[in-house]
Amino acid sequence: MLPPIETDALVIGAGPVGLFQVFQLGLQGFHAHVVDTLPAVGGQCLALYPDKPIYDIPGLPVCTGRELADRLLLQTKPFAPTFHLSQEVAEVAQQPDGRWLLQTTVGTRFLTRTVFIAAGVGAFVARSLRLEGIQAFEDQQVHYQAPEPETLAGQRVVINGADETAVQAAVDAANQKRSGLNAPRSVTLLHRKDVFEAPAPLLAELAALRAADALRVTVGQAVGLQTHDSTPGPRLTGLQIATADDEELTLPVDQLLVFLGLAPRLGPLVNWGLAMERKLLPVDPVSCGTELPGIFAVGDINHYPGKRKLILCGFHEATMAAFAAAQWLSPGQAPVRLQYTTTSTQLQQRLGVA
Ligand code: FAD
Repeated sequence: MLPPIETDALVIGAGPVGLFQVFQLGLQGFHAHVVDTLPAVGGQCLALYPDKPIYDIPGLPVCTGRELADRLLLQTKPFAPTFHLSQEVAEVAQQPDGRWLLQTTVGTRFLTRTVFIAAGVGAFVARSLRLEGIQAFEDQQVHYQAPEPETLAGQRVVINGADETAVQAAVDAANQKRSGLNAPRSVTLLHRKDVFEAPAPLLAELAALRAADALRVTVGQAVGLQTHDSTPGPRLTGLQIATADDEELTLPVDQLLVFLGLAPRLGPLVNWGLAMERKLLPVDPVSCGTELPGIFAVGDINHYPGKRKLILCGFHEATMAAFAAAQWLSPGQAPVRLQYTTTSTQLQQRLGVA
């Protein structure tokens, strides 16, 4: 087992508040490691409303969720945070020297003096397709993330979903079929309505591939599995579909890609020994500190009198937490001074602009 990564600050969650936490810690002179279950930063902004407009970010009259995530990431650049994506913080335990040892679902370990829980409404995980017996085929024939192109070669591929990820996967598989390299035998996009949500150019590509017969769209809902006993184990051979006209049909399938969106799940957080009130972490609003020493909670996950679940409020909390953590990390030192980025040489040096 590799030794843990030693750091002053670990941020759990790369949503807008986790990203701004990194920035505020950087201003205080601390480098941060950041963990998120998602493969990209942005939290709810990217996972739930990437192309919708936000109108209440100070100084930005309008921006999309994706644009805000991009801008916040850019703002962290001077502080070169280290991101550990596609993994969930699973365990947190205090060490005899007061530091915190954290471990993620892929085995990355951190030994840190402070922890910033910016976990929002929970870790985003793919919504599963609830059909009896489906777990037995996960990873081999049922996938919640796009598999390697070779996995689809010669296969009857069904993509279940209607959002950008689903449409993109269908378009990619259809293009793979047309290219002849690792070509799937057939590509079907399955959704309960013939309506898909994706950027206009992608929808246009989908329409063109449908017209060229490179992929089919089936309208209906998966209600069961058709399987076949074989060696070394049973194989998934078909999806039973209920159509809008209450008819049943069986869609042949060798590889099923399920993209039904993401759902938040509080997950392991509830086992970390932190007091919770209605799935939220109570904090002191002056510091955003929890009752555990060195552990702070910011953004949608925290609670205090008057709390508002707004990005703007999360930014304020990240600032308060960074000041409190700076004091915590330098015990016995003079109170942390307020400095302006406009005039402070020290802050400008940290930002790399002086
Ligand atoms: P999140 O954005 O939820 O990010 C938390 C991150 O933590 C996630 O990426 C998650 O995967 C990760 N995570 C959780 N647990 C773990 C773990 N154990 N290990 C690793 N990673 C973990 N707010 C506004 O101010 N203005 C608006 O106009 C606005 N519009 C909205 C529109 C919609 C449709 C929705 C759903 C929300 C909107 N909000 C808006 C609310 C805003 O998106 C949230 O307040 C904001 O995203 C909270 O940020 P956060 O960083 O605290 O949490």
